[in-house]
Amino acid sequence: MSAYRERVHRTGAARATVLQTVGRRERRSHLTAPRVPTVGIDIGGTKVMAGVVDADGNILEKVRTETPDKSKSPKVVEDTIVELVLDLSERHDVHAVGIGAAGWVDADRSRVLFAPHLSWRDEPLRDKLAERLLVPVMVDNDANTAAWAEWRFGAGRGADDLVMITLGTGIGGAILEDGQVKRGRYGVAGEFGHMQVVPGGHRCPCGNRGCWEQYSSGNALVREARELAAAESPVAYGIIDRVGGNIAEITGPLITELAREGDAMCVELFQDIGQWLGVGIANLAAALDPSCFVIGGGVSAADDLLIGPARDAFRRTLTGRGYRPEARIVKAELGPEAGMVGAADLARLVARRFRRTNRRRVERYERAGLSTRLVPRGREDER
Ligand SMILES: [Zn+2]
Repeated sequence: MSAYRERVHRTGAARATVLQTVGRRERRSHLTAPRVPTVGIDIGGTKVMAGVVDADGNILEKVRTETPDKSKSPKVVEDTIVELVLDLSERHDVHAVGIGAAGWVDADRSRVLFAPHLSWRDEPLRDKLAERLLVPVMVDNDANTAAWAEWRFGAGRGADDLVMITLGTGIGGAILEDGQVKRGRYGVAGEFGHMQVVPGGHRCPCGNRGCWEQYSSGNALVREARELAAAESPVAYGIIDRVGGNIAEITGPLITELAREGDAMCVELFQDIGQWLGVGIANLAAALDPSCFVIGGGVSAADDLLIGPARDAFRRTLTGRGYRPEARIVKAELGPEAGMVGAADLARLVARRFRRTNRRRVERYERAGLSTRLVPRGREDER
């Protein structure tokens, strides 16, 4: 059993230092954060991925497991996270843990307000985990952590004003301004998927109609393909053939595969959602004026089949076109690990604060001639 694991077991109930997250100080502080490996955890709708990530964004080890069912209590999700961290701590030093969660995280980044795939409702996740893991914990929205990773190590390097758009089943997003994640006053900025683009359009699970993600996402792609197949449209013969007439088997990855092979209907579907993507991006450019849009998520695997039409539509729709610099639209580089890598990297910022406050406390205790046992073993000699 590693020293860390032993400590967690021995002092399970002990209160760890509860930290203020870095908030505004996050800006540029990554440059001075300690170059220690940290653990990043990405909690999605189906999988929980945890990895040890070094200061250059390299994944040293990765483990994954199923996301506990929505019906399970928050404690079960917590247990899952703790188990993953303990597992990794057998082979690595754990200096801090960062969580990227598919849900709304409050502006203090301590509570998950709501997570559609989990039982979290106003859950004080950061403090609960910090108490059990005895290391600093950082909690953020998974789109924010993915955007941070792309800015630090991926397609958005050097672009301090960046907007990330994640096309999965829906649309997620995040805003970086001047190298800092913009979370909004209440922590829930970047929900681009629910901007209305078609008044009275398709119904969205959020309760409204015509949301952007109903026109430019994995769900939109599959819905359109299935509609055409169900109507036995001649353009759909290729895909109907491929699934042996079983329309329920039409998925996003299959449509991508067929589009790559040149299937006319699938190429056209990507042109459609790509065009909607470009229109939405032009709207975001009008509001935020970033220098770079990074497109991530499963749907971005279609590369230029998607991003080509998006660039065209963006150029046709951008306000002030011809008289302003155009933002770049690029595909994300870090793939499905982006959320995990970003969570780990953001956690390094907290690791520094932990180290500093801890060191100050050590000094105070030493001056007063008191015991310094409050400092977890193994941390005293940290650089
Ligand atoms: Zn919606």
